[in-house]
Amino acid sequence: MTAPLHEAHPSGPGPGLPNTQQGMRRRNLARVMHTVSAEGPLSRAAVAARIGLTRAAVSTLVDELIRAGLLEELGPERPGRVGRPGSALAVSGRGPAGIGAEIGVDHLAVYAVDLRGAVRARAVRQGTNRGRPPQPVLAELTALVEQVVARAEREGLRPTGLAVAVPGLVARDARTVVRAPNLDWHDLDLGPLLPTGLPLTVDNEANFGSLAELWLGENTPRDFLHVSAEIGIGGAVVVDGRLLRGTRGFAGELGHVPVRPEGPRCACGGRGCLEQYAGEEAVLRAAGLTPGEDHVELLAERAAQGDRDVRRALRGAGTALGIALTGAVNLLDPETVVLGGALVALAPWLLPSLERELARRTAGPPCAVAVSRLGSEGPLLGAAHSVVRAVLDDPATVSVAGQA
Ligand SMILES: [Zn+2]
Repeated sequence: MTAPLHEAHPSGPGPGLPNTQQGMRRRNLARVMHTVSAEGPLSRAAVAARIGLTRAAVSTLVDELIRAGLLEELGPERPGRVGRPGSALAVSGRGPAGIGAEIGVDHLAVYAVDLRGAVRARAVRQGTNRGRPPQPVLAELTALVEQVVARAEREGLRPTGLAVAVPGLVARDARTVVRAPNLDWHDLDLGPLLPTGLPLTVDNEANFGSLAELWLGENTPRDFLHVSAEIGIGGAVVVDGRLLRGTRGFAGELGHVPVRPEGPRCACGGRGCLEQYAGEEAVLRAAGLTPGEDHVELLAERAAQGDRDVRRALRGAGTALGIALTGAVNLLDPETVVLGGALVALAPWLLPSLERELARRTAGPPCAVAVSRLGSEGPLLGAAHSVVRAVLDDPATVSVAGQA
C-alpha cells in the first residue's frame, strides 16, 4: 500500500516511521532513495559519504533496493573521482510508477510517472463534465486509468497507486468530494466508483498544483501561496515546505475570499467572492465574451492583439486578485505568490494591477509574484508525483510487495 498523501511529508524521507530497528531500516532505505534520486548517479561510497553511514550498511540497503527494482546499477563509474571506482547507482526507470489523474470541468487526463519523474504514458479526453452525473464520468476515467496502467506495464513499470485531482473540496479521508460546485457533485466517495485495484488518494487540484510547484518548480521557496484558475479560482498555502490543510482539509479557498462584500452572489452562498471577479466566466463576461463558448485561450489571444475590452477585464481581475491576496499575504507572510494554471497564460495582463494592489496594501515590503513554469499540467503532475514521493519516502512499502 502506498502511504496516503495526507500523511506524507513532502519535506523529507521516512514519514512517521516508528523509532524501532525496523523503523530505522525503513528511514535509511528512504535516505538512500532520496539521495540517489536527487543527486544520482552515485557510487555506493558516495551515497555512504552523503548520508553518514558505513559503506557496508549502505551496500545492504542498496542491495535490497536493487532486488526490489527501485535502484539499478549503471556499470563502472567514470575514473578520476575520489575513492575507489564503483558501479554508479541510479533510480530505476522500470520500477514502481505513480498514476495521476485529473477530473477537470472540461477534460479528463491520466499520466503515469516513473521514479525518475518522467511521464511514461498518458491519456486525455476533452469534453465537458459539467452537469453530468458522476457515474459515467468516473467510468470513463477508470477506462483511461486502465489504458495508462496497461501501457506503463508494457514498459516494465509497476503502478503502485492512483492520485486524483478534483476541482472541489475533498474531506480529510482523501476519498470523499464534499463539494465540487462546477461539476455539481456533493458528498461523493470516489473509491467505489474508481475500481482500478490501486490504492486511491483524492485531493483538490490546487493542492496538487502547489505540491508540484514545491517538488518540481525552480527555486520554489518553502513558504508560498499558490493561486491557479480553471473555471474556479484555486488556492493553496505551503508553510515551511508543508501543505496547510486546515481542520477539515478545506484550507486555501482563496476563490471565496470576499473582494467586495456587497458584490454579486456566488455559488458558495456568499457575495462578491474573488471568483466573481477573477474566475474565467467573470472575466469573459467582463470582456463582453460568452462564457461556455469562449475560453481562457481566447482571452490571451485577444489581449495579445491589444483588445481593449479584454485588457480592461484582465486589469480588473488582477486588481481583485491583489485585494484577495493582500489578506493572505498579511496573514501568512509568504516569500512568494506563485500564479499557476490558466493564470500563467494571462499573467502579462494580470500582473501589473495585481502587483500594484498588493504593494499598496501589504504591511511589509511587497511580496514577490512568480509565474509557474508548470502551467496547466501542475495538478496532474502533482498527483502522479505524490504517488512517486510516497515510494521514495518509504521504499519498504513497495520493496516488501515487490519481493512477495
Ligand atoms: Zn464564493
